[in-house]
Amino acid sequence: MSDQQPIEKVVIIGSGPSGWTAAIYASRANLSPVVYVGVAKQDPGPILPGGQLMLTTDVENYPGFPEGIAGPEMMMKFEEQARRFGTRVVGEDIVRCEFSTDGTPHTLHTSGGSVIRAYAVIVSTGATANWLGLESEMQLARNGGGVSACAVCDGALPMFRDQPVAVIGGGDSALEEANYLTKFASKVHLIHRRDALRGSKVMQQRFIEKPNATVEWNKVVEECLSAPDDRGTQKLTAIRLKDTVTGELSELPVKGMFVAIGHTPTTKFLKDSGLEFDDAGYILLKSRSSRTNIAGVFAAGDVADSVYRQAITASGMGCQAAIDAEHWLGDMGLN
Ligand code: NAP
Repeated sequence: MSDQQPIEKVVIIGSGPSGWTAAIYASRANLSPVVYVGVAKQDPGPILPGGQLMLTTDVENYPGFPEGIAGPEMMMKFEEQARRFGTRVVGEDIVRCEFSTDGTPHTLHTSGGSVIRAYAVIVSTGATANWLGLESEMQLARNGGGVSACAVCDGALPMFRDQPVAVIGGGDSALEEANYLTKFASKVHLIHRRDALRGSKVMQQRFIEKPNATVEWNKVVEECLSAPDDRGTQKLTAIRLKDTVTGELSELPVKGMFVAIGHTPTTKFLKDSGLEFDDAGYILLKSRSSRTNIAGVFAAGDVADSVYRQAITASGMGCQAAIDAEHWLGDMGLN
């Protein structure tokens, strides 16, 4: 690493709603941020360019888009807005971070083999919904075929209205999603691999007492079955279930499948960085701020939020992180 190498004021890692919002605010504050967006199609790439919205079809709950907007298109608009104010964008992952604790710049290693230095770093790498791992599941999730990992994002779409749907999982997320779906779907089947739910009793009760709710005990999904609609798009028609006790196979006709078996925050590349995490692996923040335990390192969005996990809350956190970074740089006389 050359001493002549310029030191960045703000590096933003990740390019979902939190990363781009941080970039918009930081660039408008003349901090000349650089966003490491991740490497497309690198498997397993630590950072998904554009974040989870790249796997979403229509976003209908983000204010300002009354007709809804496709997730990937929304992320393109965020990027465009960030670039308009001078944000620089690099199509690489950050694969390792050496955060300093003595006020000197932080050192970041990129997937392209570069070493960069930055006074402030905003981590906004998101979290990944856990999937069952079936090929048919991923194909339908990518093509808007009726498989989703977010009922709050997708559940109100017309394709699921008055149709039978399934929610996979037995925790609070699954119960929350299943409950939410009872408002739209004709029937909500909660599919759980055991004979007892993990989620809280109050959430269980709330779901079970709905007239269109039912639990399929001791069942796992073996396959997502689909057929082309009149536009030729493969759409989910049923799921093949296997009984975990008897081994018996059955088919359940559903138009939607919502996978709610937990999330994994994207923090592997932060291993040994000195950052503090909660028990589930999310970055711990100082109360009511985006500050982490390391000075000059901020976090925003799902990587630091196991509760709300919405595009709009991630954007809000990105805004906070940029403002916190700006204040911190000012306090350090680096702005
Ligand atoms: P979770 O509590 O870890 O539950 C995951 C569920 O998915 C479990 O029931 C698990 O089954 C099942 N599962 C995992 N892998 C599976 C697989 N491959 N195939 C089928 N089923 C699988 O995750 P979560 O529900 O996302 O909740 C995470 C945390 O957030 C929890 O602490 C939860 O209380 C909290 N949360 C709270 C609220 C709320 O209070 N409103 C809402 C959402 C989440 P097993 O039970 O057999 O392990």
